[in-house]
Amino acid sequence: MQTQLPAEFIATDRGRRANEILRSCVHCGFCNATCPTYQLSGDELDGPRGRIYLIKELFEGAASPERVTQHLDRCLTCRACETTCPSGVAYGELADIARIQIGPRRLGRQGVLRRLLQWLVSDARRLRLLSRIGKYVRFLLPRALASQVPDSVTQGLAGSTQGTQRVLLLQGCAQQVTTGEVNESLQTLLADLDIGVITAPREGCCGSLDLHLGDEAKTLDAVRNNVDALFPLLNQVNAIVSTASGCGVTVKDYGSLMAADPAYAERAARVAEATLDVSEYLGGLEATLTAKFPGKRVAWHPPCSLQHGQQLEGLVERLLVAAGYELLPVADAHLCCGSAGTYSVLQPVWSDQLRQNKLQALQFHQPDLIATANVGCQTHLADGTKTPVMHWIELLS
Ligand code: SF4
Ligand code: SF4
Repeated sequence: MQTQLPAEFIATDRGRRANEILRSCVHCGFCNATCPTYQLSGDELDGPRGRIYLIKELFEGAASPERVTQHLDRCLTCRACETTCPSGVAYGELADIARIQIGPRRLGRQGVLRRLLQWLVSDARRLRLLSRIGKYVRFLLPRALASQVPDSVTQGLAGSTQGTQRVLLLQGCAQQVTTGEVNESLQTLLADLDIGVITAPREGCCGSLDLHLGDEAKTLDAVRNNVDALFPLLNQVNAIVSTASGCGVTVKDYGSLMAADPAYAERAARVAEATLDVSEYLGGLEATLTAKFPGKRVAWHPPCSLQHGQQLEGLVERLLVAAGYELLPVADAHLCCGSAGTYSVLQPVWSDQLRQNKLQALQFHQPDLIATANVGCQTHLADGTKTPVMHWIELLS
């Protein structure tokens, strides 16, 4: 694609990178075929090719931030378009640059909700306290927020465990408050394999929420906090392990997020290199895994942050089959379930539609269980079905 970005913008690291990404797009439109929002609206501007064009116009000063914002805010950042693109266009990175350029502020209800989410979700203690209160005032909350309040509030891990090897487990913010049993299951599973688990007492939000809301300052603060919390523990462990693929994909990106900060660049890159999704960590141990619920038929939903963001497709499936589960075929497995971080709160109509479509595909063969790999997908899907929705780690023993 031809670009004419202002010289002063291209002189910055962000501008140079945006220009590179824009020029790598050949405008073929293959990506539209796998974009969930394009499938819903049929509007070129709600597909990746149209959004890329709008972002180019934004940087060139030819489109107003308001016009770009409307279509960019509807993007799930699922990155299905990246998996499909034959030219390797880094759409997610480009969208993040555009969001930072526009900034996090919005007017009216959207602005209030975004600020509330940033304040609420990024702090596990605050989230836990307000989730407890939220149960009793759910009926007063807007529907999009009320559906996010968990029925029961969970705790973080009680303590460390010992083993001949050790991993540092990322507890996550929403994960430890709403699905804390996932990390407990992993700790028990690893203990049986003589692998100890430690946590970082000062671990905070990974920064993904602020990043996708376009708040660069808060994103970088979150990353610096976690680098300070995680790096000193690296020499005690074999790996940093994440059970929430949405957090893992962001921590794996810490090196590039901090590349321009000489005080943090090297340590951030080391933290990123040490971070594995739990499926990668267990990949070499499949012979030791058994099914906790033998005979159950499982429909597997691979989160976008796992299959598109981390490009880890097929790994969990292999481990579940090795443990003895029957995996059922699921149509359109590449499509997002509509959770997408804060999307279910900020874009509830499209989010609901995507969940309905996803549940229809997952339940087509009447599974006993739905399994997934990210807290957001798990709670979002569970809210729309009576079929149990579990993290795949909970299915193993
Ligand atoms: S992002 Fe990739 S698939 Fe989409 S229009 Fe550009 S080159 Fe084609
Ligand atoms: S990230 Fe997902 S929703 Fe956004 S343009 Fe790409 S495919 Fe469409």
